[in-house]
Amino acid sequence: MPLLDVSSFAAGRWIAPDDSARLIENAVTGAPMARAGSADLDVQAMLDHARKTGGPALRALTFHARARMLKAMAVELGRHKDVLYDLSFATGATQADHLIDIDGGIGTLFVYASKGRREMADAHVHLDGGIEPLSRDGNFLGQHICTPLPGVAVHINAFNFPVWGMLEKLAPTLLAGMPAIVKPATATCYVTERAVRILLDSGILPNGALQLVSGGLGDMLDHLGCQDVVSFTGSAETALTLRANPHLLRNAVRFVAEQDSLNASILGPDAVPGTPEFDLFVAEVQREMTTKAGQKCTAIRRIIAPEPLVDPVIAALGERLSRIRVGDPRDPATGMGALVSGAQKRDVLDKAALIGTEATCVWGDPTAFGDVAGAFVSPMLFHCDTPDTARHVHTTEAFGPVSTIMGYRDADHAIALANRGGGSLVASVITRDPQVAAAVASGAGAYHGRLYFNNRDSMAESTGHGSPLPHMVHGGPGRAGGGEELGGLRGVMHYMQRTAVQGSPDLLGAIGQSWVPGGTEIPAPAHPFTRGFHDLRLGETLHTPARKITLDDIETFAHFTGDTFYAHMDDDAARRNPFFPGRVAHGYLLISFAAGLFVEPAEGPVLANTGLDALRFMKPVVAGDSIKVRLTVKQKTPRNTEYGEVRWHVSLRNQDDDLVAEYELLTMNAYQA
Ligand code: NAP
Repeated sequence: MPLLDVSSFAAGRWIAPDDSARLIENAVTGAPMARAGSADLDVQAMLDHARKTGGPALRALTFHARARMLKAMAVELGRHKDVLYDLSFATGATQADHLIDIDGGIGTLFVYASKGRREMADAHVHLDGGIEPLSRDGNFLGQHICTPLPGVAVHINAFNFPVWGMLEKLAPTLLAGMPAIVKPATATCYVTERAVRILLDSGILPNGALQLVSGGLGDMLDHLGCQDVVSFTGSAETALTLRANPHLLRNAVRFVAEQDSLNASILGPDAVPGTPEFDLFVAEVQREMTTKAGQKCTAIRRIIAPEPLVDPVIAALGERLSRIRVGDPRDPATGMGALVSGAQKRDVLDKAALIGTEATCVWGDPTAFGDVAGAFVSPMLFHCDTPDTARHVHTTEAFGPVSTIMGYRDADHAIALANRGGGSLVASVITRDPQVAAAVASGAGAYHGRLYFNNRDSMAESTGHGSPLPHMVHGGPGRAGGGEELGGLRGVMHYMQRTAVQGSPDLLGAIGQSWVPGGTEIPAPAHPFTRGFHDLRLGETLHTPARKITLDDIETFAHFTGDTFYAHMDDDAARRNPFFPGRVAHGYLLISFAAGLFVEPAEGPVLANTGLDALRFMKPVVAGDSIKVRLTVKQKTPRNTEYGEVRWHVSLRNQDDDLVAEYELLTMNAYQA
């Protein structure tokens, strides 16, 4: 078989490997299958292309336009995933592993596409939190905003997830509005290269938004500045070398690190043999040991069980492991494929031997598959009976199907052992005991980026110890790199600058593309409910006449709704309440009357009331008071081709002009009146 040439995509053209290329082996056969790398790569031209062409094109789009782009990318990759599956077998991965890497990566794009449209405005500036009042009369306010960094994001990825690893970084980067240069690990870069070709061939991405380095990165990091980001995933050792780059340090280049991690799983004291929790624990540990042949940053490396349950866990786990067939990943009967390479196999066996100096191998055989060419190993379960004094079992990551079981005396001991990893991506606890869960959360939370609790109540719907979800933070302190990725919009913020902005309501409104209370009101040329989405202007305001509230109104509302709470019905009881001067109108009566005051009844562009946000009642209203309403267009967000969401600021004032209630009303409005 001729070698597969894996190219880079630099400054708009594909660059084939040259004589400096590195050979890549097929994990299953051990034979060379591809080559990648070129000395011809002009890293400065790549950075310029990203900064001068890709960045401006992305930043010209709104968050919603970028979110739609992510969705189109997901659909395009989904159409071609069989090609990616086929190629990925050579990495040693099984079809079940592909679902995590390829389908999981596509799923991450979909989630960010959806979050971008739901949780961000159709704008170029993202608002972080609400308005901060900084002055007595409200004419000087504060607001935090986030804008995309005008530099380039350099993504350096690990070998184990050639597709998910790229997409989980690419989705938040592109949504933020930053171009990316992706550098996959050489061992599996041929899969990433194919995914990049699919994306580029589709024409979905603007020119310069995505470039690829297959092989070495050269001295690219020495050319980065304060508006660039390095997002690294890989071993702690490489992270240390890269983050110590004096150029990165001197220029305070953002460096996000996701490193290796000695993740733990704790069996709760209640989860004894015979309970669903015990079986669940054993099943999760076995799955985490053997999925991707244990080459998962979140895999369970340390199994922490009550001392009396150590032997039953070893027996049950051994029984499950014995059912896992190791072999050709293309064979559907195979439960675990190969490690990525012969070098990785040697590394795993060396690390297992180190662990073996402190623990006994109780299942598996480190010498198995010694005579085959592919990078196959047997799952290996070690037992350490001196976990308090042992070192390697807590610090040595054998990046393969290797785990160590250790016993604990009580909850505090289990927490202390889990924290001995010195910072991890995830720790799981299988328990139904709320006190155990609460103790672990407060005692171990600071050491782990994610805590995963599971038991019989949640197991049917749970997502698995080892699955980072785009909605939840992925990363961890200390050993795990101190980084944070994903976590919904949190992950997007790595690629944006948060800026505190101070100024008048009108200026903050213009910056945030959202009307700010205190800002200029634009008189509505007609009732705003008669105006199409696109005609409405931010700040357009309707003032209603006043309506008097009578005791009869309060009585009628109370009996009609059944809300006869004493504060509305009993004057003496209401007076005894520290908040009320006597019988008061229901808050819901006020907002119902408010709707009666501002609504235009005829059929028109307002299609539906979809909710209220931030409702506050500030001052009680008693019989004889009157209320009037101010309704202002605060924000507009297109939703689809027919309608968009209008966020209205609504305030209710009494006859003395005191604010009695305030809220934000959401409606769906047709684009055409
Ligand atoms: P690695 O050897 O540290 O390599 C990671 C990446 O760094 C690769 O793309 C590698 O490229 C690149 N690299 C190495 N030296 C470099 C240099 N001097 N300049 C620029 N780039 C350089 O890790 P790996 O073997 O690929 O992955 C396994 C490790 O990653 C495990 O320790 C695992 O725990 C960790 N991991 C962590 C996470 C997480 O999310 N926390 C996820 C997956 C994996 P080359 O391949 O070309 O050398």
